[in-house]
Amino acid sequence: MKCSFCRNESVYFRRNEGHHYCKNHFIKNIEKRVKRIIRVNKLVENGDRIAVTVSGGKDSTNVLFLLNKIFKNNPKIKLFAITLDEGIKGYRDKSVKKSEIFCKKIGVKQYIFMFKKEFGFTVDKLSKKMKSGYCGSCGLLRRYLLNKKARELKATKLATGHNLDDECQSILMNVLKGDLLRLVRGGPMPLLTRYKMFVPRIKPLITIPENESELYAKLNNIPFHPKSCSYSVDNPLRGGARNFLNNLEETSPGIKYSLYESALKIMPFVRTKFKVGKIGSCKKCGEPSSQEVCKVCELLKGIK
Ligand code: SF4
Ligand code: ZN
Repeated sequence: MKCSFCRNESVYFRRNEGHHYCKNHFIKNIEKRVKRIIRVNKLVENGDRIAVTVSGGKDSTNVLFLLNKIFKNNPKIKLFAITLDEGIKGYRDKSVKKSEIFCKKIGVKQYIFMFKKEFGFTVDKLSKKMKSGYCGSCGLLRRYLLNKKARELKATKLATGHNLDDECQSILMNVLKGDLLRLVRGGPMPLLTRYKMFVPRIKPLITIPENESELYAKLNNIPFHPKSCSYSVDNPLRGGARNFLNNLEETSPGIKYSLYESALKIMPFVRTKFKVGKIGSCKKCGEPSSQEVCKVCELLKGIK
C-alpha cells in the first residue's frame, strides 16, 4: 500500500480517517497533533521548567523525546527528567538503565530518586511484607514522590506519558463507578493539580492512541523497555474497560477519541455540580492532603 500523501510505502493505516501513512508522514502527523494539544491547552508557556516523568517505557520516553524536539532551541523553556526507582529487580533496574542512556544521548538532565533512600524500603521488600495491595501502595508513593521532587526542583509543570487509551479507560471506569468527581482529574491539564502545592500535570500524548505511541517510538528508534512490571495487578475494571474499548474501536473506529471529547465537554458541568474537597497540608509531612494526615504518612506508619 502507498501513503495517502506521497508515493512512499505505507507503514500505518488509520482506520477512522481511511488514510495510509508512510514513516515520514506518520511521524509528522503525530508531532502535529502533539503540538496542537500543547498550543490549544497552553500546556507549555514561556518561563516553564518542565519535569518529565521518565520511566523508560514507550510513552514517557516519547514525551521526553517530543518535548525536547519541540522546545530544545527555546531558551525560555527548560526541560529535565525525573525517574523513580522503586526497587523492582528484573524490571525497574532495566528500564532505569534504558532511560539513563536515552537522557544522556539527547542531553537532558535526569534526576533519579530511589524508594530505598526516600522511604527506607524497596517495592521488592514491600511485596514480601504485604500480602496484597502493594501495587496500589507503590502507585500512591510514586505520585507523592513525583510531585514532591518536581516541586523541590522548582518545576512549573510535570509532564506524564498518559495516552488516549489510558485516558479513555479512566473516563469509563469513573463513569461506571459513579465517581463523576474524578472526571476532573482528566483532560490535558487536570484542574485538580492546580492547587499551589501540586505541580500542574500535563499530558501531551493525551490524543495519541497506545498503538500509535508504540509505532512512533519504533520508527524513531527510541529505546524503551517493553516489559511491564511484574507486580502490576490489573484492576479488573480497568482490564474490562480496556477490552471493551478495544473491541468497540475495532467495529467503530474513532470511538476512543469521541469518548475523550465527550468527557471534555462534560467536565465544566461536573465542576459546577461537584466541588473538589478542600486541600490542605498533611500535619506530618506538609505535603498536600485532604485529610489531617495524608495517605502516604498513614501507609508509612502501617509499614513501620
Ligand atoms: Fe509500582 Fe504497580 Fe507501577 Fe509496578 S505496576 S511500578 S508495583 S505502581
Ligand atoms: Zn507519505
